[in-house]
Amino acid sequence: MRTVAVIGASLAGLSASRSLREQGYDGRLVIVGAETHRPYDRPPLSKEFLTGKVAEAELALEADGEDLAAEWVLGACAVGLETGERSVRLADGRAVRADGVVIATGAAARTLPGGDGPAGVHVLRTLDDARGLRDDLARGGRLVVIGGGFVGAEVASTAAVMGLDVTFVVAGPTPLAGPLGPDMAAAVSVLHADHGVRLLCGTGVRGLVGKGASPAVLPSGLRGAEATEVSGGAAGRGRVGAVVLDDGRSIPADIVVVGIGAVACTDWLEGSGVALDNGVRCGADGTTSVPGVVAVGDCAAWYDAASATHRRVEHWTGANERPAAAVAALLSGGTAPPAPPRPPYFWSDQYGVRIQFVGNAARADSVTVEDGSPADRSFLAVYRRAGEPVAVLGVDRTKLFTRRRKQLATSVARGATA
Ligand SMILES: Cc1cc2nc3c(=O)[nH]c(=O)nc-3n(C[C@H](O)[C@H](O)[C@H](O)COP(=O)(O)OP(=O)(O)OC[C@H]3O[C@@H](n4cnc5c(N)ncnc54)[C@H](O)[C@@H]3O)c2cc1C
Repeated sequence: MRTVAVIGASLAGLSASRSLREQGYDGRLVIVGAETHRPYDRPPLSKEFLTGKVAEAELALEADGEDLAAEWVLGACAVGLETGERSVRLADGRAVRADGVVIATGAAARTLPGGDGPAGVHVLRTLDDARGLRDDLARGGRLVVIGGGFVGAEVASTAAVMGLDVTFVVAGPTPLAGPLGPDMAAAVSVLHADHGVRLLCGTGVRGLVGKGASPAVLPSGLRGAEATEVSGGAAGRGRVGAVVLDDGRSIPADIVVVGIGAVACTDWLEGSGVALDNGVRCGADGTTSVPGVVAVGDCAAWYDAASATHRRVEHWTGANERPAAAVAALLSGGTAPPAPPRPPYFWSDQYGVRIQFVGNAARADSVTVEDGSPADRSFLAVYRRAGEPVAVLGVDRTKLFTRRRKQLATSVARGATA
C-alpha cells in the first residue's frame, strides 16, 4: 500500500493515522478535513470551554511536536469516492488517489429544518459552534435547551453553573432515557432540579418566536430528538424571544440550544458503492462493503455481535480506540483477526458529577443499584440480561466503576471467543 487517505481530520481520523504509523505503514498519508482546524477535542466544548476554564489551545489533540509525516489537506470537503480507482473527490475539484481509504467523517449536529433560526439559536458540534455559544452565554439571560441527549444535558448544567436561568425541554419521559434506560435516566435527571434548572419532559416544541414578534416562526412542531421536519425559514428575523411548546406554553428565551442529535456525515458516499445504513455499514473490524475502505468513529456503524446489529456509537473512547482494529484490517487486507470487542463506554460531566456508562442498556431485562444511592447522587447500577451483566452505570463512583468496567470487558471478550 503506497498511499492511504484518511477522510476526516478529527479524533477518529487522527487515531487511525497514528495507528497506521504505529503498525508500520511508512507510505504516503493524506489527511483530509472539512474544517480548517487541526484535530481538536470536542467533549470540553459543552463543558469547560463554555465557562472559559479551557482555552482553545488546550483543545489540541496532537501532542507537542507530534509528526505523523502526513500531508494535511484542511478546509477541504470530500464530495465523492470512486471506489474502482479509489479516488476521493474534493469540493474544490481536486482528487486524492489512494490504495487505502479510512472514512472518519463523524457526524454533524441535526439542525432545525428551514434555516439556522433567529440569532441566539445554537447547535453544538464544532469549535466554531462553541465559540458562538460561549459568547452568547457570557451575556447571561434566559437559556432554553431543546433535546434530551448528553450535549443538551451538559449545556444545561454548564449554563446553570454560570448563573443563567435555564429551562430544559425534553420530548421523552426524561433526559438520557435512550442510553441509560428510563429508570436510571430518571435517577440521574434529578441533578437538574437540584441546581435550579426547570426540566420540562414529555413535551415537544412547536416553534420559536422572535423578540417582539407574535407568531411562532417554526410552525410544524419539533418533537425533541425525533424532530425531523420543522420548516418555515426562520433566518433573518432578529433575535429569538421565546420557545413555544406543543401544549401552547411560551417559554421566554434569550438563547436557545438545539440538542436534537447528530447525523452521520456520509452524504458524500452516496452512490459510491460503500454500503450505508444510518452510517457506514461495517464488519466487526471497521471493514466496509468495499475492499480497501474502512470506516471509524461516529460515522461508522460497526457490527455488534452481542446485539447482532450494526450500531453507530457516538462516544469519544470508541472513536479513539477502534481505529487500531480498522487499520489492522486495512493493512492486512482483512485477514488480521479482529480484536475482541470492548463494550462501548462514555462519560458525561454534569453539575460537577461524573456520570460513566459502559455496555448497552437496551439489552438489559433488569437493573439494580448495587452501591450507594440515587438519593445521595452517588451510586453504581448494574444492568443484566438473564442474570448476566450487560452494562454498568456509575454516578460519582469512579473507582468502583472502573473495576466493574474491566470485569464487563473481560466477560464480553470471553463470550466473543467462547
Ligand atoms: C459538544 C460535545 C461534547 C461531547 N462530550 C462527550 C463526552 O463527554 N464523552 C464522550 O464519550 N463523548 C463525547 N462527545 C462525543 C465525541 O466527541 C465524539 O464521539 C468524537 O468527536 C467522534 O470523533 P470522530 O472523529 O468520529 O467525529 P468528529 O469529531 O465529528 O469529526 C469528524 C470530522 O470530519 C470532518 N468531515 C465531515 N465530513 C467531511 C467531509 N465530507 N470531508 C472531509 N471532512 C469531513 C468534520 O468536519 C470533522 O472535523 C461529545 C461530542 C460533542 C460534539
